[in-house]
Amino acid sequence: MKKIVASLLVCTCITMSVNAQAKYKNYQDSINAVAAASEIWTTVREVKPGKFINEAPSDAIVLYNGRDFSAFHGRDGKKVGWKIDPDGALTDVKGAGDLITNQSFGDCQLHVEFRTPASVKGEGQSRGNSGIYLMGLYEIQVLDSYKNPTYANGQAAAVYKQHIPLVNASREPGQWQAYDIIFKAPVFKENGELDKPATVTVLHNGVLVQNNVTILGPTDWVMKPVYKKHASTLPLFFQDHGDDGNPISYQNIWIRPL
Ligand code: MG
Repeated sequence: MKKIVASLLVCTCITMSVNAQAKYKNYQDSINAVAAASEIWTTVREVKPGKFINEAPSDAIVLYNGRDFSAFHGRDGKKVGWKIDPDGALTDVKGAGDLITNQSFGDCQLHVEFRTPASVKGEGQSRGNSGIYLMGLYEIQVLDSYKNPTYANGQAAAVYKQHIPLVNASREPGQWQAYDIIFKAPVFKENGELDKPATVTVLHNGVLVQNNVTILGPTDWVMKPVYKKHASTLPLFFQDHGDDGNPISYQNIWIRPL
């Protein structure tokens, strides 16, 4: 009897393996499938934002003021490969790598203005994709989400793959938009266990889109979020997503450590 059960198990495993190979042509396909399984496709109500500007207050650390990017460096100690446009916008250059702050931050209030290209190229996640990685680990998605269907937990102002924004407050491509982010860093115990998870509140163009939500761990395209003990302050970065022909621009970036 034992032999029959063992034989059945072996057969089942072989069949599963053959099916898995038949299902996915290659490793990348299987990764894509795992990533797709965590996408949530739903419609987020649209809200038309009002017009406003937001200058840095007196106690803010200005990270970018339209003239120089000396507050940042590139990956692996490289120089910043992004460019400053004639209008003062700091624009991604494909393959230039992420824009990383020299300073480290934990709890903070962060103001960021971004602009996706006026001429729309690509669709879904390929339209003006960037991201603000708080502490280098927790992404608030930056994307052209104006009439651009994609999975809702990956659209603009999502806590990537964790929290769908309450509404879609996106402006049209080519217009400046703003995020105001209030972030509380996670707290860890001496032994490495999580004491308090991170939380975040986000206003998109002045509209509340994330209301003190709990971050479940580092955000990732494929992997499930799992906290790992880290320092109480870390550099944040702006993502170079590496897409063709639709570079993101930033201006007026300031931060107030809390
Ligand atoms: Mg992104």
